[in-house]
Amino acid sequence: MEDFKVTKVIDIGNGVKIGGKDFEIIAGPCAVENEEQMYEIGKFLKDLGIKLLRGGAFKPRTSPYSFQGLGFEGLEILNKIKEEYNFKIVSEIMDPRDIEKSYGIIDIIQIGSRNMQNYSLLKEVGKLDKPILLKRGMSSTIREWLMAAEYIEAEGNKNIILCERGIRTFEEYTRNTLDLVSVPIIKSLSNYPIIVDPSHGTGRWELVPPSTKAALAIGADGVIIEIHPEPSKALSDGQQSLNFNEFKKMYKDIEILKKEITNDRNG
Ligand code: PEP
Ligand code: MN
Repeated sequence: MEDFKVTKVIDIGNGVKIGGKDFEIIAGPCAVENEEQMYEIGKFLKDLGIKLLRGGAFKPRTSPYSFQGLGFEGLEILNKIKEEYNFKIVSEIMDPRDIEKSYGIIDIIQIGSRNMQNYSLLKEVGKLDKPILLKRGMSSTIREWLMAAEYIEAEGNKNIILCERGIRTFEEYTRNTLDLVSVPIIKSLSNYPIIVDPSHGTGRWELVPPSTKAALAIGADGVIIEIHPEPSKALSDGQQSLNFNEFKKMYKDIEILKKEITNDRNG
């Protein structure tokens, strides 16, 4: 394997940088469900010191009969929470026609796993002056994923953050197999920052805290994690969402581990 390249630092604003020294935690529900839910989550995350809020307004659901997200109404809710608590917002765009209306609200545009090879979408977001979170296709190789990133970059947008979210394998115990070694491989092949999504990567909430620790230890630049005030009532992905207590415990453990890793590196 080649030596690690210098990771590009993506400035999100408000003092948040992805790819720098810090391990950034992006958190929020799978989907924006209503205003009360988002205020509750927003306040909780803000009090903990989280600066990046995720929340899906346009949801790529396997079944057309599942909750599809609130669309623009969801984005309006995200905007209120953003203004109230000064978050930077991470949200998925599936259709290039939705970019214009979302532009002022979303700070990091997520391209979901199912759209990693949607080349017309990649080209459109490549023309923007906004960070893109490019998730790994669930059946994509690392090379294919890097080529997808190049589609964005070729149009001029170099603010790309990769996200390892697990791949499909024969294993059935977990929703996906979280391919954590893609982190050092990406760091050796490219200068893109890379974060890990342990929620979709495992599909099981109890595996999220240990996978987050592993992501930090293996050199990821951050994680994106699903939380919900009452996971059993979530409209999507409740089984992989942490509740507030679980999230808080994990957050504290990560703070401790961060210090241990830094001490270790400094001898
Ligand atoms: C999500 O982040 O809620 C999501 C749908 O992720 P993925 O595209 O990785 O499945
Ligand atoms: Mn989800």
